[in-house]
Amino acid sequence: MTCLEAQSMITAFIDDNLDDEQLTEFIHHMRNCPDCKEELEVYYTLIVGMKQLDNNEKLSNNFAQELEKKLSYHENRIRGHKRVMMETRFGVSAVITILLAVVLFQLGHMVLHWKSSPLKEDTGKYYYMKVKPHLFYPDDYALRNPYSGTE
Ligand SMILES: [Zn+2]
Repeated sequence: MTCLEAQSMITAFIDDNLDDEQLTEFIHHMRNCPDCKEELEVYYTLIVGMKQLDNNEKLSNNFAQELEKKLSYHENRIRGHKRVMMETRFGVSAVITILLAVVLFQLGHMVLHWKSSPLKEDTGKYYYMKVKPHLFYPDDYALRNPYSGTE
């Protein structure tokens, strides 16, 4: 933001007519540019002072301090808002990550289970062929009928 842009926003700032995006840039400029800050203080004193006179209010005795309060109020407000946004974003991505992990785990489990069930059968058959070979016909390894009586 240039000094000209910042100074053109001074009255809008005093009248609370800037959105958060404009406020962020405006305040950032005021924090880093003593010339514009001085300009802002002059305008703030003039505009707010005139309004107070118009409304027969008690005149402020420290405009600079009030302006500082206004600036830091918006700074804190915007910073707090950003933090909430970031926390929300973090929370959402955490939930998505957990959901993805659960889905992947379930998928992996399904694939593993689907693959391992025929494997288990094979392992079982292999085990019995080794340990109890008399249960199988030696030519095709088909399971003998234990009640056939052919030994
Ligand atoms: Zn400036």
